[in-house]
Amino acid sequence: MTKADIKSIKQLLGKPKKIVIVPHKNPDGDAIGSTLALYHYLIKHQHNATVMVPNDYPRFLKWLPGNNNILKHDIETEACETHIKNADIIFTLDFNAFHRTGNMETVLAESEALKIMIDHHQAPDGYATYMYSDVNMSSTAEMVYHFIDKLGDTNSIDSNIATCIYVGIMTDTGSFRFPSTTSKTHQIIANLIEKGADNTEIHNNVYDTNSYERLQLLGCALSNLKVITESRTAYITLSQEELNRFNYKKGDTEGVVNYGLSLENIVFAAIFIEDKQEGIIKISFRSKGNFSVNEFSRVHFNGGGHTNAAGGRSETSLKNTVDKFISILPSYNKALNND
Ligand code: 5GP
Ligand code: MN
Repeated sequence: MTKADIKSIKQLLGKPKKIVIVPHKNPDGDAIGSTLALYHYLIKHQHNATVMVPNDYPRFLKWLPGNNNILKHDIETEACETHIKNADIIFTLDFNAFHRTGNMETVLAESEALKIMIDHHQAPDGYATYMYSDVNMSSTAEMVYHFIDKLGDTNSIDSNIATCIYVGIMTDTGSFRFPSTTSKTHQIIANLIEKGADNTEIHNNVYDTNSYERLQLLGCALSNLKVITESRTAYITLSQEELNRFNYKKGDTEGVVNYGLSLENIVFAAIFIEDKQEGIIKISFRSKGNFSVNEFSRVHFNGGGHTNAAGGRSETSLKNTVDKFISILPSYNKALNND
């Protein structure tokens, strides 16, 4: 994003506008945190702003300020599409291509509103008039902070904006531990705390509000954990039957993939989750070091993301998907044993 772009955006936002803010499907902490942060910023500047998610998101994010004003496209389709039709500006946050919004793909592609992208995923599509894309950023929420800073407006960051940005950065950095966490990230976090983000309460609200069943499901996932030593890989499966047994709710499997990576000497972890309703196996990949799960997922599992965290999907059975994964792995043994 150039200085000229910033100047134009400043001008554009100089008068109240009708604005829609959209994150990716199955929104995570960064998707919800970044969109709500931008929402609070825009309404503070007299814009008519709406956050619109493609579908529902985990309960542990439903305490965020502004949560009650979020529209869900899958259940409030008509209201959402009216907003999109009337919008002057659509901000697309935390995704790189319209298809990442699921059923919102067409309505977004057909909308004539001016598009502004803020995102940190690799290989962004070129649909946006103004594109703030930086794959080195820890999170889209951190980029929202930089965006407000570029507008010369960090003074307007209040406790609501600070809290939402904090949640996005915290969740996308694995609580400030992934390599994308920089000293700048920590400086921003320090500023956010000064502006009213309550770090202890935020961690508590996101990480310490488990249901008993969620922990039991985690126990099941861990007992399904398999290790392939020669590939320094660990993977977990969860069938639909297992999810049902523990009364699975959206978000219950969030973060489970990381347990594989917590094993000594393991650099590649995957989780395969059966979704009978969508007829797919949803896959998450995580890695440590140079092994690019973004590339791995793009080539073999119809997905993508970042070097160390990516998602993917498969349309065959859970067993066939895992068999395919296991059969591919040996060709990566060299890369996986490279450090
Ligand atoms: P997760 O495994 O948590 O679903 O996703 C890990 C990361 O990869 C997140 O940043 C997510 O937005 C991204 N991601 C997940 N699925 C896809 C996909 O199909 N394409 C792309 N480009 N990114 C994805
Ligand atoms: Mn993100």
